[in-house]
Amino acid sequence: MDQEPLIELDGVSFKYDREWVVEDVDLTIHKGQFLGLVGPNGSGKSTLIKLMLGLEKPNRGQIRLFGKQVKKFNRWQEVGFVSQKANSFNSGFPATVYEVVRSGLVSRMNMFQLFKPTHKDKVYEALAEVEMKEYAHYSIGELSGGQQQRVFIARALVSDPSLIILDEPTVGVDSEHVTAFYDLLGKLNRERNLTLLMVSHDIGTITSHATHVACMNKSVHFHGSTEDYHHMDDEDLSGIYGHSVQQLTHNHEVTHP
Ligand code: ADP
Repeated sequence: MDQEPLIELDGVSFKYDREWVVEDVDLTIHKGQFLGLVGPNGSGKSTLIKLMLGLEKPNRGQIRLFGKQVKKFNRWQEVGFVSQKANSFNSGFPATVYEVVRSGLVSRMNMFQLFKPTHKDKVYEALAEVEMKEYAHYSIGELSGGQQQRVFIARALVSDPSLIILDEPTVGVDSEHVTAFYDLLGKLNRERNLTLLMVSHDIGTITSHATHVACMNKSVHFHGSTEDYHHMDDEDLSGIYGHSVQQLTHNHEVTHP
């Protein structure tokens, strides 16, 4: 039986100016899924995420988070977001790993709540989940891109979200650390039943870690389990993308094994 839907998009279309960037998207993400959202550059993936987070308003269609219209949704502590920011802090950046993770908790507290000793444990627990506990007192800028992204996952985890949305978090992460990063996400999905929606341009890696895949090029051309995705042949795939996967790899930096 399907689990509770956490994100529901019905007939969503959006344009910044004249041209439609997102066209008639229906997409439901159920609790416990790890959905990889793939597609060429400029196909509307980041815009779709902005729409889900209420940062842009659709011109047409409905978006619900945890069953509520996004504009009325107020359980934002349940939703974590990790963007492309690997390597964006230089070594002099004046914040420790501990402080970065703690800021995830502080931003969820209202002005009348005080930081309690139990919150310190939560910060360390979140760091342990991403295997970065021993780096708590390092400056964030001293870490590699992959390590910084683990810290941002811990920052999202510290408020016990049910859902984390990640927009191409491995851009700027050294290639030898990318697989370990996906492995960590797979583990959080399986062991914590954490629902994940991740935008990725790396079709090969995402389809070997996610439970579900959505292929987007303004509209969603395929949405299903990764198992169903792997059963498709080249002809099906070129129908979905409007190109062969090899062409995509060439023209849009999408990688496939
Ligand atoms: P993707 O994440 O798949 O690379 P985007 O959602 O970033 O795609 O972009 C989809 C299209 O919308 C692109 O043509 C892009 O140039 C355009 N676009 C993105 N952001 C803006 C913006 N703030 N204003 C106008 N056009 C935008």
